[in-house]
Amino acid sequence: MKRLRQFAYSEPATLDEAVAALASGGEDARVLAGGTDLIVDMKTERLPTSAVVNIKKIPGLTGIDDLGEATRIGALTKVTAIEGSQLVQQRHPALVDAASVLASPPVRALATIGGNVGRASPASDLGPALIVSAASARIRGTMGEREELVEGLYVGPGQTSLTCSDIITDFIIPSPPVGFGSGHVKLGKRGGGTDIAMAGTSASVVIEDGVVRDCKIALASLGPIPFRAPTAEAALSGQAPTEETLGAAAEAAAEDASPIGDVRASASYRATLARVLTLRALRAAVASSGGWVVA
Ligand SMILES: Cc1cc2nc3c(=O)[nH]c(=O)nc-3n(C[C@H](O)[C@H](O)[C@H](O)COP(=O)(O)OP(=O)(O)OC[C@H]3O[C@@H](n4cnc5c(N)ncnc54)[C@H](O)[C@@H]3O)c2cc1C
Repeated sequence: MKRLRQFAYSEPATLDEAVAALASGGEDARVLAGGTDLIVDMKTERLPTSAVVNIKKIPGLTGIDDLGEATRIGALTKVTAIEGSQLVQQRHPALVDAASVLASPPVRALATIGGNVGRASPASDLGPALIVSAASARIRGTMGEREELVEGLYVGPGQTSLTCSDIITDFIIPSPPVGFGSGHVKLGKRGGGTDIAMAGTSASVVIEDGVVRDCKIALASLGPIPFRAPTAEAALSGQAPTEETLGAAAEAAAEDASPIGDVRASASYRATLARVLTLRALRAAVASSGGWVVA
């Protein structure tokens, strides 16, 4: 078995100590949460790592809270907890859909939401679901605290806009308006949902008086980062949710996608999946909004 290279290790008790440890570790210092990605990345030497800062002893970084106008999810909250949350299911069904198809139950019991966003995999399941719910991340760094939309954090495959001393502390997801619904659908190579996505789509809609007033569609494994599909969103906004309008938006999503071929799927198969999975995610979003798709 491959051995890990030497690194400094710390278990700070406070956020300030953790930020200081990361800052003194330099640009190859890493936050350790569940470790399901980081340990693999260290073993395969995908990520040079000089210092590992384990944040699990810092209080206040877990839990799902109803803030009224928003839902707060701590960065160290396990994927399993999101999968089982009634509150998240009620407000943001796409996030529960995504949590329930992320890897296998043993991985979900270790993996955290902060690590999923921090890893910035183009195939992330939680990223697209957070994006269609307009979620933002609260971040603590050397300059204090700030809040950024999750969709703005992704800059490239495996790369976020976070600096090496930034720590995501929690996610804030605005409470949805009446008529909101969302869904997440993915396809993995083994057919079921629970392996890395060949392609994935999250969608959300707000339906008012039988018309889609707002629509967000985010794609995974269909470009270098989890990203919004603007043409598809524009195609559905202002329309009644029929099989025809949802189908047109799904076609547009395939245009918005920029898939590549790799060991999991060819580019052309991924383009087909963009259309098929977007249609399914939109149907799920409309159904969870309490609306229905007119045939
Ligand atoms: C077998 C297997 C299957 C998988 N299948 C899927 C899948 O189907 N879908 C999917 O989306 N993912 C999948 N993953 C990836 C992984 O499980 C998730 O990305 C997980 O959510 C990462 O969380 P973690 O707590 O383990 O992060 P870690 O491994 O601890 O960290 C991951 C990265 O994020 C950074 N980080 C962690 N927490 C923070 C924070 N609070 N602030 C800033 N940076 C932070 C770390 O420094 C590191 O670079 C799979 C992994 C494995 C091993």
